[in-house]
Amino acid sequence: MHCEELIFHAQAHSHGQLTWWRSLAITRHLDDCPNCRGSYQQVLDRQTVLTNKCQESAPATLEARIFEAIASPVTLDPDNSW
Ligand SMILES: [Zn+2]
Repeated sequence: MHCEELIFHAQAHSHGQLTWWRSLAITRHLDDCPNCRGSYQQVLDRQTVLTNKCQESAPATLEARIFEAIASPVTLDPDNSW
């Protein structure tokens, strides 16, 4: 496996979406290639940040503001039609 191929498949590998043989090839390459190991660690770090950020709650006032915006009447400008 070449470095370019590993980078291409790194995200899928981290999600367990590759075939067994391709994952094995990636694992072996990571064992032997410090550059790809560092790049793969960055992929894992980004996923951790995304996972943590997606678990944060929205501000308490957001739901009220959305419902208020939906309930407010829409004013159309007859002089500015499409
Ligand atoms: Zn490599």
